[in-house]
Amino acid sequence: MSQANQQITYDDNNIFAKMLNGDIPYHKVYEDDKTLAFMDIMPQAEGHVLVITKQKAIDLGDLEPEYAAAVLMTAKKIMQAQRQVFEREGIIQMQLNGAQSGQTVFHYHVHLIPSSIHELGRHAVTQADHEVLADTARKLAAVIAA
Ligand code: AMP
Repeated sequence: MSQANQQITYDDNNIFAKMLNGDIPYHKVYEDDKTLAFMDIMPQAEGHVLVITKQKAIDLGDLEPEYAAAVLMTAKKIMQAQRQVFEREGIIQMQLNGAQSGQTVFHYHVHLIPSSIHELGRHAVTQADHEVLADTARKLAAVIAA
């Protein structure tokens, strides 16, 4: 556990842990043995994807090297698919560490957002239409699988 999170212990009931356990639904984009990628339900731009590790890490301070490598490789796949699907070069990669930074889910994850730092929407505020999320997830998954 990272130094700044010494008082926080990993919560097995956090929302992303529930997804990994198959307890709640999500719009899957990609999965491998160490990572899972799905649509953010309160996107900061259309096509906002989250990549989580299958390691029970709270933030970057906890991440084991093999999972750090895996999450970046999955992030790269997602970014390349977003570039193709949304026909834009600019994709933000973002990752928050600790409540003070604005982190709201305490299971390590990387945000991939087809947007610009000048146009980014508000963090975790507006629910997206599930039909749109499902459609985007299908399109991104198809590009990754091709
Ligand atoms: P962070 O604040 O960096 O921890 O980001 C957590 C992200 O998870 C936010 O962008 C939320 O919109 C997103 N989120 C919260 N609940 C869900 C959910 N059930 N499915 C998908 N994304 C979620």
